[in-house]
Amino acid sequence: MPTAADITAAVDALSAGKLAILPTETVYGLAADASAPLAVAAIFEAKGRPRFNPLIAHVADLEQAEEIAIFDDRARQLADVFWPGPLTLVLPIRDAGAVCDLARAGLDTVAVRAPGHPLARAVLFAFGRPVVAPSANRSGRPSPTTFADAVEETGDFARAALDGGPCEIGLESTVVALIDQPRLLRPGSVTRDQIEAVIGPLADAQSDAKRSPGRLALHYAPDAPVRINAEAPSEGEAWLPFGEPGPFSLSETGDLREAAANLFRMLREADRTQPAGIAVAPIPAEGLGEAINDRLKRAAGFVG
Ligand code: AMP
Ligand code: MG
Repeated sequence: MPTAADITAAVDALSAGKLAILPTETVYGLAADASAPLAVAAIFEAKGRPRFNPLIAHVADLEQAEEIAIFDDRARQLADVFWPGPLTLVLPIRDAGAVCDLARAGLDTVAVRAPGHPLARAVLFAFGRPVVAPSANRSGRPSPTTFADAVEETGDFARAALDGGPCEIGLESTVVALIDQPRLLRPGSVTRDQIEAVIGPLADAQSDAKRSPGRLALHYAPDAPVRINAEAPSEGEAWLPFGEPGPFSLSETGDLREAAANLFRMLREADRTQPAGIAVAPIPAEGLGEAINDRLKRAAGFVG
């Protein structure tokens, strides 16, 4: 069993902007400080994910959750009944700095959960701020439910790792959105019936075309048209260079992790100047570049 020193080591790793493997009752997570874009970018890099999906912000308790998300009565009722535990609530964001743009994939909502595993709770209480922790597997591989599997998958990228034994549930958390009408986004071990017993009928993610799974994440899109793989800006265009300085540079040094961390902020800041368009320099297709290019293609309207 991990000692108090091990828990401190995990908290120190998170505080230093590094990654930590944490046990939860669902699956093992690869955790980072949710407020630190570079640390969140390192998660995507470690997982080798081809796109940026919004991550779940893990908190110690309802009090911490209410600092980052806006709870209504239904959300509070669900948290009272199922937290700590394997239920994630998608709610309007309250503190966009506490869970950074990259962690939310640019959305104005946030997914939040208080996990029940005692080690995860110990780390979250000691850290005192939200932690994103998607499953600790490499992209396309099964979620690790044992310490050995988690370490084999992404241990090379983690500064600390806590062995909490085999995960009790072994299934990802149930995800419920409470944005308009309550909606089941991802089934999990907390069942639809259990949730409906507390707040009444749930709509399916699919039942509303505008919010069907692919579109559900209504990702931030700039108002200005986005032109990707640009050699240089045209008249009136804001310019997002890579590997060169500039007010909206994704990374002066050509660092992909930094570019991922800056991506949403630079798109927003460039858009705020109300340019005729936003021109973005070519981003290498390797490593995190794949997810960056995926996001840019969406911003440019090439992918729905
Ligand atoms: P995980 O990889 O376990 O962290 O799972 C994240 C899950 O929560 C995915 O299914 C996401 O699509 C979903 N999710 C996270 N944040 C949001 C959000 N703001 N809106 C909708 N779904 C979200
Ligand atoms: Mg996963």
